[in-house]
Amino acid sequence: MSEKRLRQAIDTLKDSGVRITPQRHAVLEYLLTSMVHPTADEIYKALESKFPNMSVATVYNNLRVLREVGLVRELTYGDASSRFDCNTTEHYHIICNECGKIVDFQYPSLQEVESLAEQVTGFNVSHHRLEIYGTCEDCKHVAAAKH
Ligand SMILES: [Zn+2]
Ligand SMILES: [Zn+2]
Repeated sequence: MSEKRLRQAIDTLKDSGVRITPQRHAVLEYLLTSMVHPTADEIYKALESKFPNMSVATVYNNLRVLREVGLVRELTYGDASSRFDCNTTEHYHIICNECGKIVDFQYPSLQEVESLAEQVTGFNVSHHRLEIYGTCEDCKHVAAAKH
């Protein structure tokens, strides 16, 4: 499954004329196999041992390239570090209040909300973002064990 996605992603890079360096390949592979919406720092830490000469700046640079060709989405959260999502299909996120984990879930895109917002505000809507917050299963178990 992720093998196929990796091959497709590499084809997309080739088609866009983007050079595939070993680091770029590794960043892409990490994103596609981990499916955890990592920060650039987390990707750096995961790949550090494999590429001792790689810097965080290189990771950022690779993420920017991947974002430009549409393989990765950047999720910004105010002052906190951005998280990177390689699931570029329509989906929503649920975020754990305790550990910050972000999990994907499918739900039909809320187009009616976009049209209503356009009608009542006169904006041209580009996109929307919806996040649900709660306590993930792992954290629920940790909390239960404490009591
Ligand atoms: Zn959690
Ligand atoms: Zn996602």
